[in-house]
Amino acid sequence: MACIFCQIAGGELPASIVYEDSECLAFMDIHPLGRGHVLVIPKHHARQVTELETGATQRLFAVAESILSAQRRLGWGLDGSHILLNDGKTANQKVPHVHVHIIPREKGDSLKSAGKLALHVTGVFGFATPRPRLEEQASQLRTELLTQCNRRQT
Ligand code: 5GP
Ligand code: ZN
Repeated sequence: MACIFCQIAGGELPASIVYEDSECLAFMDIHPLGRGHVLVIPKHHARQVTELETGATQRLFAVAESILSAQRRLGWGLDGSHILLNDGKTANQKVPHVHVHIIPREKGDSLKSAGKLALHVTGVFGFATPRPRLEEQASQLRTELLTQCNRRQT
């Protein structure tokens, strides 16, 4: 059976999509470690970065950077964000398909964030965020990305 992120890329599992092109897909993390936590994946399955084609890692991080900018314009992660790639089991990679996390942080959220991170490390993850909330955040990000794109073209 295809991995969970391949199923999302193939439209077999639901996800709140933020961005899509021929190579990459970005969607809301269902167990966010911060408000508006997004994952960017290559559409083709690769377990680790070393299995990716030349240039694919740069492409993922370029998409991650534009999502980081969109989050900031929405006021998310103004005080800081994690741009994170867990590469391999020992490095806490739970889903065996390359993904970049963009996790907005807020001042004073260390305790809450550490608790959630501890759950992620065990692979339990905790409760999923309700779909309407993820859809609302994805929609806000899509609008920001579109605005960013239009601004570049003018
Ligand atoms: P890792 O620990 O492998 O770096 O992170 C995997 C991420 O995938 C976690 O942040 C987790 O919340 C997220 N995740 C796991 N299953 C799903 C899912 O079905 N949908 C979405 N959108 N995210 C998922
Ligand atoms: Zn996969």
